[in-house]
Amino acid sequence: MSQSMVRPPDERVAWKTSIPFIALHFLPLLAIFTGVTLRAVILGIVLYFGRMFFITAGYHRYFSHRAYKTSRVFQFILAFGGSMAAQKGALWWASHHRLHHRFSDTERDIHSPQKGFWWSHVGWILCDKYKATDYDLIKDFAKYPELVWLNKHDWVGPWFLGIVAFLIAGWPGLLIGFFGSTVLLWHATFTVNSLNHVFGRRRYATTDTSRNSAILALWTMGEGWHNNHHYYAAAARNGFFWWEYDLSYTILKVLSYFHIVTRLRVPPERVKAAARVRDGQLDIGMFRAYWTKANAAFHEATTRLQQKVADAAGAAADKVNTATGRAHPDEAGESTVLATATDPDRSTDAATPALTSADAEGGAAHADLIAQQLVLADKQAKLAQLEEVVRTAQIAFEACLADTLRTAEEFSEASRERAREMVAQDVA
Ligand SMILES: [Zn+2]
Ligand SMILES: [Zn+2]
Repeated sequence: MSQSMVRPPDERVAWKTSIPFIALHFLPLLAIFTGVTLRAVILGIVLYFGRMFFITAGYHRYFSHRAYKTSRVFQFILAFGGSMAAQKGALWWASHHRLHHRFSDTERDIHSPQKGFWWSHVGWILCDKYKATDYDLIKDFAKYPELVWLNKHDWVGPWFLGIVAFLIAGWPGLLIGFFGSTVLLWHATFTVNSLNHVFGRRRYATTDTSRNSAILALWTMGEGWHNNHHYYAAAARNGFFWWEYDLSYTILKVLSYFHIVTRLRVPPERVKAAARVRDGQLDIGMFRAYWTKANAAFHEATTRLQQKVADAAGAAADKVNTATGRAHPDEAGESTVLATATDPDRSTDAATPALTSADAEGGAAHADLIAQQLVLADKQAKLAQLEEVVRTAQIAFEACLADTLRTAEEFSEASRERAREMVAQDVA
């Protein structure tokens, strides 16, 4: 579906502005010339997990979801640490992520896999549509001038870290330790938006397609429990049970012992027990996703059929036009005959055979035209019938799906309402 989808201009890859992002993917290859050192590799691992913590615990759980409290100084450290991952500023990141939660898997979701895997993974980042920060979406943090400054100068963090990496481990440190780990960090973060909505298990009935994946939780330090997270986004931990490892939460927990962070929000037991769905069972989020897909496929098929009908009608009309042209010779032909007939220098006897021959030709073409017109009328009647069938089917299909969706919505509304109340009570 995604391949045939035509994207509006502001959703297409902006190649010029995407050059640095694309080029950075190839920079680590220059290590062929500099060699790879153990020190550079260790640096890369440290920078990967260190910055992943700032992204998950800082950009995501703190700035996007306010899942815990901290001081203004540590808040700035979280923002600066996250900015070193070259994923833009905390305010840009968090404001866009809030939109993802508000409109999960609907048309207004900024990176729904409903628009294709590539789009959810990296397409939305490479286009021009989402480059700006809407400060209205993040008023609660936009009131801190230091955060706004960092958001506007988001290059400071990556440049600072790049220089530090070079000073620590030289060229291999820059190429592998910094650039290499930055690229891995990007794609690991992106997999939460892409893979985590198509791959894994669902535990809770949410209105989106989020899933839990132990594998994704491994390289995202706990973000892989994404279905848990969409169900209860206010929590500082995404792993809800002891076996759901969540390294970012573990670190936050340790920081809370030193009062660096406080009031870590965790999902209450009754919330964890509510709105459960057996994996593979169709709940409202999955139903809506399938419904959207089926609807899009049906629309595409009917549009294509209608195009075919229009093309066939056009071709038939062309044929008749050609026949009409033959029955009535064009102006140039007529005037030649006329010139021959009226030329005083030519005898009338010479003009007469020319006119007679044109008349005979015209007669034959006329008969041909009538035959073609009959065929066309028959074809047009058949096409009109076909169009009527397609239209009726489309109306029936849409009515049936809308009806089923409404029933499913009503059915699950009660349980979701109960879950929402619990969440609201807890958040208050
Ligand atoms: Zn999500
Ligand atoms: Zn989130």
